[in-house]
Amino acid sequence: MTYRVILFLAALTWCFQHRANAAAIEQLPEETVTASLPAPVPAIPSRDNARTQVCVDPGHPNTFNPATDMVNGTNEARVNWQVGVRLERVLKSMGYDVRMTRNAELNYVENKDRAYICNDGSALAVHLHCESTPGTGFALYYPDRQGVYDYKDDAENGFKGPEAGVIMASLPLAEPVAAWMRRALAGSLVQQGIYGDSRTAVGSRQGALTYSILSKIPTVTIEMVVLTNKKDAAFIKTEAGQEKMAAAIAAGIAAYKAP
Ligand SMILES: [Zn+2]
Repeated sequence: MTYRVILFLAALTWCFQHRANAAAIEQLPEETVTASLPAPVPAIPSRDNARTQVCVDPGHPNTFNPATDMVNGTNEARVNWQVGVRLERVLKSMGYDVRMTRNAELNYVENKDRAYICNDGSALAVHLHCESTPGTGFALYYPDRQGVYDYKDDAENGFKGPEAGVIMASLPLAEPVAAWMRRALAGSLVQQGIYGDSRTAVGSRQGALTYSILSKIPTVTIEMVVLTNKKDAAFIKTEAGQEKMAAAIAAGIAAYKAP
């Protein structure tokens, strides 16, 4: 074969392959391309977030509810603690200071004390919980109105709160946290919604959750999973599930912009 023929054949082959590839790409529906993209990794916060103190509150045990009854091979106090410790580690690696409201899985801390611990030097508070109602997935709650503290015969009953600034800043905290959870947990957990505290059992009675009423800083409660749901429980019991949860919440915190 002459040199010219070889060149011609090579060019013809290239043309044919190129056209075939172009046709294949054109035929791909847009959704297929988008769906095949990997979930974005959590963003590293900018330097102005460094040395900000975040309060991580692994919910329970308290006298209101120890939450130590076994559910699907674990219990709420344990899951909250396990994810809380991971969240503490992730936030510290991002440059945040972290204040934990308890220092052991079975450390009893009352809800009002959790607010006082968080108010002491933290910029915002995240309260970690698990749901035990029918259904599946995660839900977030924030103080959408003032409430009046009313728990047993507590000396501080009648206290009104939180202040308007806390109410204004709490939804803007819940939203990026929910958005990152949607992205990072897609395929494992669905989002139920973002609701006012008044949708909860205690909130419907007091107007807001106890630690929200007493909070001086933006605050969000995360019902991470429905623990009575077998699939949810199986996810949150694993190290990988807990790591995904912690990374998502941390990324949401990093994305928070105070109004
Ligand atoms: Zn709880």
